[in-house]
Amino acid sequence: MKLILLGPPGVGKGTQAALLESRLGLRTLSSGLIFRQEIEAETDLGQMAKRYIDQGRLVPNGVTIQMMAKRLKSSEVRKSGFLLDGFPRTIEQAQALDEILSELDLSIDKVISLNVVEDILVARLSGRMGCTKCGAIYHRDAKPPKREWLCDNCNSPLFVRSDDQFEAIRERLAIFHESTQPLIEYYRAKGNLLEVDAAADPEEVYEHIIKETGA
Ligand code: ADP
Ligand code: ZN
Repeated sequence: MKLILLGPPGVGKGTQAALLESRLGLRTLSSGLIFRQEIEAETDLGQMAKRYIDQGRLVPNGVTIQMMAKRLKSSEVRKSGFLLDGFPRTIEQAQALDEILSELDLSIDKVISLNVVEDILVARLSGRMGCTKCGAIYHRDAKPPKREWLCDNCNSPLFVRSDDQFEAIRERLAIFHESTQPLIEYYRAKGNLLEVDAAADPEEVYEHIIKETGA
């Protein structure tokens, strides 16, 4: 199964990706997560990307496409099936992805477009915390950890993303409308778009995805 998760920041792409990965064994390729790992490792790519990410802007298409192409071409990802989270995010990236996939003789089964109203997105993003080790996601009000600032799963410290600040959140939402939303029409025209209301709790959203994709 090869899937793309599309949707605004805060809609729950990361949460659904984690569920799909652990239950279906799909490999998740999350562009945001890969960038954060590059930043953590202080690579050249990470240092370059950080300037954009902290402001809530998109990392330029060229480097992003190169980074994702490298990972898509690894045979492990192709064997287990994959789930793209956060990529593509622009029409240029979607066209590049089409080329990469055709070179590899692969095709996407479904593009899952998650959506909720903007007020919910802002509320979800502004209380969000993540585990530094296992990637589990918490929320100050909706899903607080049992012990303050510690992960329930693995005891590691929690952190707040540098781009989950009010100004960067506003910018990310604006960029979503401008650059990423056109992808919904792009994939609708290709006939493999699945639109999912992501206002429900994560389990319900997951069940809906599984039912509709036949995964
Ligand atoms: P969210 O969907 O919550 O905004 P992500 O973790 O997917 O979070 O992305 C965080 C940031 O990483 C983005 O705001 C952007 O700066 C950068 N980024 C991630 N994916 C891409 C992409 N495909 N193209 C350009 N920049 C990206
Ligand atoms: Zn953890």
